[in-house]
Amino acid sequence: MSVVSTVKKGRVFSGARPTGRQHLGNYLGAIKNYVALQDEYDCVYCIVDLHALTTMETTENLRQNTYEMALDWLAAGIRPQESIMMIQSHILEVTELHVILSMVTPQGKLTDLPTFKEKVRQQPHNVNYGLVGYPVLMAADIVLYKSNAVPVGVDQQPHLEFTREVVRSFNYRFKTNVLIEPEMKATEFPKVLCIDGVQKMSKSLNNHIELAATPEETQQRVMQMVTDPARMRRTDPGNPDVCNVFTLHKYFSSAEEVAHINIECRRAGIGCVDCKKILAKNLNAHLSDFRERRAKLDKTPDMVWDILHDGASRAKVIAKATMAEVHAAIGLP
Ligand code: SF4
Repeated sequence: MSVVSTVKKGRVFSGARPTGRQHLGNYLGAIKNYVALQDEYDCVYCIVDLHALTTMETTENLRQNTYEMALDWLAAGIRPQESIMMIQSHILEVTELHVILSMVTPQGKLTDLPTFKEKVRQQPHNVNYGLVGYPVLMAADIVLYKSNAVPVGVDQQPHLEFTREVVRSFNYRFKTNVLIEPEMKATEFPKVLCIDGVQKMSKSLNNHIELAATPEETQQRVMQMVTDPARMRRTDPGNPDVCNVFTLHKYFSSAEEVAHINIECRRAGIGCVDCKKILAKNLNAHLSDFRERRAKLDKTPDMVWDILHDGASRAKVIAKATMAEVHAAIGLP
């Protein structure tokens, strides 16, 4: 198979940790955008298993989680003939570039990043070297594929700015322009709250709604969702603006339904049970084709792995070319 197709607006790179079966938060926050970007950009989508090692207690589910995530991406509409979809650790060049970029990265800059401090707070028992170098590996991922743009939400902006600085440092240090400074493709990543309506939807907290859940499981989870906490009785007017059920309606229900709920909730014309039933029905309708495609793909796991290996071989062509330029720029013998 040939290298990525002719350039559209440029190349986009994005990576995500292998977290297994994806949930609504992953879908609205990343996957939906991944699918849309394919129309405008050559896309490289990477399952960043090496990054995941920085925080993993155990790796026994790593392979299965990678597979499940790939299934979800494909079923959601990633087009593997067109986009590159691959696994980070299949491209050894990224680890080499990580080392090289680390030589132009001040150590203090890494330990000053808010994300590093947050990780230290979360896992004080395991402040490993990989955690410190995490943004350098991320920078290596982005620049290895000569990416022009990276979709980022507000919380990821410091990391991308860091990548841009690393690129400038490398190019300045070795008097070259082989590495491309990627542009920030500011993206809206809606904060999807979990069923308790307080925390962010997260698999580890088991407060999520999986895309591949059965219609019954989906309905059950939706019915458990916390609504406007001030609405104690059916006869109380509610406030959709503070209700997570309403947030999801905005993505999965028709404009007419959203307008209707917005009005009726405020005057207690609709109860939360009915409102949730509408959401569950719409969610299941929205995900029905996805679930069908996913189940079909899941019958041919070898094909899914072949897609990932094929993506890696196409990514490798780009990676090798970049590394040849990097070696030449540095003067490595
Ligand atoms: Fe939320 Fe709907 Fe209940 Fe209003 S009626 S509080 S939007 S669940």
